[in-house]
Amino acid sequence: MTDEKWGQTRAELRDTVGNNNYLTWIEPLEFKGHEDGVMSFGVKTKFIGDWVSRNFGDEIMRHCNKHGTPVDRLIFSTQRAAPANTPKAVASSPEKAPQPVLRTARGELPGAPLDTRFTFDRFVVGKPNELAHAAARRVAEGGAVTFNPLFLYGGVGLGKTHLMHAIAWELQERSPGLRVLYLSAEQFMYRFIQALRDKQMMDFKEMFRSVDVLMVDDVQFIAGKDSTQDEFFHTFNALVDQGKQVIISADCAPGEITGLEDRIKSRLQWGLVVDLHPTDYELRLGILQQKVEVYKAQYQELQISNGVLEFLAHRISTNVRVLEGALTRLFAFASLVGREITLDMATESLADILRQSDRKVTMEEIMRKVCDYYNVRMSDMMSPKRSRNIARPRQMAMWLSKNLTQRSYPEIGKRFGGRDHTTVIHAVRKIDELKAQDSQIAEDAELLRRMLEA
Ligand code: ADP
Ligand code: MG
Repeated sequence: MTDEKWGQTRAELRDTVGNNNYLTWIEPLEFKGHEDGVMSFGVKTKFIGDWVSRNFGDEIMRHCNKHGTPVDRLIFSTQRAAPANTPKAVASSPEKAPQPVLRTARGELPGAPLDTRFTFDRFVVGKPNELAHAAARRVAEGGAVTFNPLFLYGGVGLGKTHLMHAIAWELQERSPGLRVLYLSAEQFMYRFIQALRDKQMMDFKEMFRSVDVLMVDDVQFIAGKDSTQDEFFHTFNALVDQGKQVIISADCAPGEITGLEDRIKSRLQWGLVVDLHPTDYELRLGILQQKVEVYKAQYQELQISNGVLEFLAHRISTNVRVLEGALTRLFAFASLVGREITLDMATESLADILRQSDRKVTMEEIMRKVCDYYNVRMSDMMSPKRSRNIARPRQMAMWLSKNLTQRSYPEIGKRFGGRDHTTVIHAVRKIDELKAQDSQIAEDAELLRRMLEA
């Protein structure tokens, strides 16, 4: 490819990535050459190279290939003398480069690539995730299977996938010959349908039954998909019967996955079921601090004013992915303008994220917190049961829903097992009354409110 041809390709990229991205990331790339499927660019900092590679690498290669220039790798190098411990050139997606999926003598497994960042050393442990972490560590030690399956559940972005990959990495390191298969439930379904279509069910079954460890992520995906869940059930049973470790994740507890057959629900509860709770302030701060350290070690000097991380940990409480996204944006910004990250810069450049995460508590979180707090089951919230030890927590959850969310009375009633809106009105009044008379209730309400808003 010539300079001129790159000019054309680049112009096309403007349409694909949008004008802003184009001006910020693509235009400043200095085209250096193309040889043997490798295209090189000069960039100002290693971070910029990584960012472009990760976010636009595929697009860039796709466009080049379309123009008849075969490219399968991008290299970004910094013009500045790099610090001694950082390599000058970064290969395309250095961190996220798909890892070979556990090859063994018996052939390759059709798993999903493991993210190299998702290891145990990069998992920050705090109160909300300590149990899940301990269980994952235990399973990662290998050896005799003590609980089968390990079932991890929790809301979006709380670290389920991270823990699963960490287990896979660790097992692979401890015993390189072990056949560990990690895939999402969606991929499981896709393989299954493919096998049906290609009349290769025998191979499919054989392959899945030949692994030593099976990990299926986001199993809620197969709920309602009858033949897939059937096949999953048989695979699962076959492995557990052979004493092979199975690890499953989902966004809620086995019993709460709607559309999943009862026999599967109950089977999934045979082993150890642990949940990842919503993050608290300390954990969020710990995660931010760790990310900053990793960034500094890998890229460059970074100046952050006091209080910025605390501010982010306090204000962004939705999930870790959003928190990371915010930090990455700040890094990118600081890297471009070469200035210290201040509170002002953070508020300004993260305005959209901060607005979104302004006190957005969901009814789901409320119910879960209330269930934990009073030690009742999620299903009790929806059930018609009216005994005091269940009715009171349910009323409390309704009261919190009214006070912390924008939901209407009918909407709340609907979510609590299809109750009438008058029931919700009654519950809200009841808790308000009780708060005035009963200091225990007042304290419960206050504590729950604070935990949910944290
Ligand atoms: P889930 O699968 O539960 O939706 P992920 O495992 O994909 O969530 O986590 C979302 C992001 O947050 C990932 O980048 C992950 O590395 C990060 N993350 C979540 N929990 C932690 C933690 N305790 N320590 C460090 N990073 C975390
Ligand atoms: Mg996940």
